[in-house]
Amino acid sequence: MNPYITTSLFDLFKIGPGPSSSHTIGPMKAGYHFLKECMGLSRDILVRAHRVHVRLFGSLSATGAGHGTDVAVLAGILGISPESCPPGLLESLAAEPDREHTVDLGEGRAFIGLKDVEHGPVIHDYPYSNTLVVELVDQSGQVLHEKEYYSVGGGFVQWKGWEAPVLGEPVHKYRNMTELRSIVREKGLNLYEIILDNETAITGCPRTKIIGELNTILDRMEESVRRGIDRDGLLPGPLKVQRKAGMLWQRASCLPDGPDRFLTKLNAYAFATAEENASGGVIVTAPTCGAAGVMPAIVYAMRHDLFIGDRAIREGFLAAAAVGFIAKHNASIAGAEVGCQGEIGVASAMAAAMLADARGNRSRYTENAAEVALEHHLGITCDPVQGYVQIPCIERNAMGAVKAYNASVITAGTDPYAQKVSLDAAIAAMAETGREMSCKFKETSLGGLAVSMVAC
Ligand code: SF4
Repeated sequence: MNPYITTSLFDLFKIGPGPSSSHTIGPMKAGYHFLKECMGLSRDILVRAHRVHVRLFGSLSATGAGHGTDVAVLAGILGISPESCPPGLLESLAAEPDREHTVDLGEGRAFIGLKDVEHGPVIHDYPYSNTLVVELVDQSGQVLHEKEYYSVGGGFVQWKGWEAPVLGEPVHKYRNMTELRSIVREKGLNLYEIILDNETAITGCPRTKIIGELNTILDRMEESVRRGIDRDGLLPGPLKVQRKAGMLWQRASCLPDGPDRFLTKLNAYAFATAEENASGGVIVTAPTCGAAGVMPAIVYAMRHDLFIGDRAIREGFLAAAAVGFIAKHNASIAGAEVGCQGEIGVASAMAAAMLADARGNRSRYTENAAEVALEHHLGITCDPVQGYVQIPCIERNAMGAVKAYNASVITAGTDPYAQKVSLDAAIAAMAETGREMSCKFKETSLGGLAVSMVAC
């Protein structure tokens, strides 16, 4: 395994439906992969195809209902990939729980409904907690094709026998911020140049294509903010959580220009995307679905309130990616592994780096802004009430955006070399805290607010 960072930008920033990268986007990808694999089976097998069954295990089974896992895997099997998923599709599939769907297999066809997605044991012997097993069966129930998938976090999916794809070697080799800082100093490059060079080398994609896709991601973030602000009513699920983004936006419009107006708007932007995520709307993982509201809030504010140009925003976005890569490589960005510090904490650090960089600060300021934002999220657990990515997740996105803004303000006004804590130290602290954190505080809804709110 390559010891250096080889994560692609488009592995970190994925367009797809919320509310969870591991519980929604991952299972959707698994369903889509299964469909494509079945379509490659021989005609003799396909003409016997009758039904598709899915079994969910571990945390997919425990909190899958609240995360839209059932409808996401169904959509994937019906040929919808996360990036092609129209807004509102998962909601419409969930609204028809008894509907029979036809799976077009090319040379054959099969049927599936939501009742074919079963919830298996939470404790099991598969190598990953978030496991799903998909089967194509004939009319007598005989299995024609079966696959064991693992949703390993951040929307990444592996399967039994999976082998890591062969990637190109990064041009600039680094494992952490200390090494990245040395590259900046020795080669006289900016963070965005390093990330772009590596992306081209790792994926083989030309720069122009990468920049085009980055622009698409930024536009999708903006769209998710706009959609969220325009919607009102209750979020799906038993908690009856009222959407607040539109109300915050209206309140901001009534305030005079000043700090309260700006802060209220920033909160509205973060609520908007987080509420879209919670309702199964299309968002960008940044770095995960649960934390998808933090970066769009800062992107939207940079475009519409701070009047920062698109090029500077794109360069800041690449600096944010560096922070996400380093956190993923040296700790984790999955709530199931390190709690919410790895989701909202890392998102806040990325957003702080983006803003600091886009405002023209040197890379040392950018690193410090990321460090300050992450440091003040250390120890935060993952405790979504009843497994829905709503409480505390939505407000936590707004707090992450505000802390990101404040981190960039604090660091821009101080000597960057006087900063005592490095980003690498904060990430190491997050990894250790995550390792020691009890399982019940890691995406199982068995601890924290998930329990105390219900018990009180
Ligand atoms: S509490 Fe944090 S880590 Fe857990 S689901 Fe919500 S946003 Fe994700």
